[in-house]
Amino acid sequence: MELSEILDLRPEPAGGLLVALTRRCPLACAHCSTDSSMDSADHPDRERRARLLRFVRSFTPGSRPDVVLLTGGEPLLLPGLAYDLTRAAQDAGARVSLLSGLFFARDGGRIPAPILRTITALDHFSASLDAPHEREVPRADVFRVLARALDAGVPVSLHLTGAGPDDPYLADATAAVLREFGDRVPMLVNEVRAVGRATAGRTATGPGGPCTMAAWPTVAPDGTVLACCNQRTVDVRPAPPHLTLGHIAEDDWPTVRRRTLDSPRLRLLRTLGPDQLRARSGAGPAPGGYCAGCRALPQQPGPDDAAAAGAAGRLLDQLSAARLRAQGPAALLRRHGCAPYAHLVRPGGTA
Ligand code: SF4
Repeated sequence: MELSEILDLRPEPAGGLLVALTRRCPLACAHCSTDSSMDSADHPDRERRARLLRFVRSFTPGSRPDVVLLTGGEPLLLPGLAYDLTRAAQDAGARVSLLSGLFFARDGGRIPAPILRTITALDHFSASLDAPHEREVPRADVFRVLARALDAGVPVSLHLTGAGPDDPYLADATAAVLREFGDRVPMLVNEVRAVGRATAGRTATGPGGPCTMAAWPTVAPDGTVLACCNQRTVDVRPAPPHLTLGHIAEDDWPTVRRRTLDSPRLRLLRTLGPDQLRARSGAGPAPGGYCAGCRALPQQPGPDDAAAAGAAGRLLDQLSAARLRAQGPAALLRRHGCAPYAHLVRPGGTA
């Protein structure tokens, strides 16, 4: 499964599932979007591991996400759990991708056997690359791991992060990847977001318009299932009711899928977005921007919620997803990533 196929599914409600296995990570990258560290208590004990497996085993061939993204923290701190979740998801026909910071590769790109077993079971493997990260794991070691995965027949990609379109690091790193791998390593190029360790002094902003991120449920490290992967939504409890889909201790995938598809408020976020919703309800712009405005939406259902609850609301939701998918993955990255590099989602191809 290539990066472009994963991103093509991103606007599809319940087309994917994000699972944050742990908040722990052995790296200490300054810009970390998840504020992860090895001290975090958000690491699954035996019971939470069993719950995660039970949740993924509730997938059936007729009710499953098309793709599961395993993230963290660092998901490869738990290679056995990642492997078991991968096989359980694949048994129901889902495909699995994992994003790693490659903490294990610092000594020359060596891959320990349990981690290699997990990587080679995946349908897609992604690694992070950026300037703070390169101080922890050298670029050459990252390239060695990617080459090893490619040799094993696993499609790979890189998630690069820079300060913005003019950041010379991004020009240098993307050129180096293209020199080393040609078109075999697609890239998702992002700008540092206003979350995690890099938050100080910045304000969360969003792209305006409909929210594509309200399409895929996210399992937070504490087992809560949220309607989006926004880091503040994942981190802060209690989460807003309209962004809470359940908990893996009580709910299975068919239940989470139904709530994702049928929630009038989520349909409205996917078709109109929080700014329009706030304007239509008379709430006005929220301090803090797009996602802050979403989290602070009035909980009382209004006329828009009533309209979105019916068959017309479902149809509009489906049409909105189809329109966004027709625009292609590069258009998605022009809105949500670092626009001048969006074409690298399919290097050498038509994006
Ligand atoms: S607008 Fe709302 S649903 Fe969308 S990413 Fe932000 S907080 Fe999540």
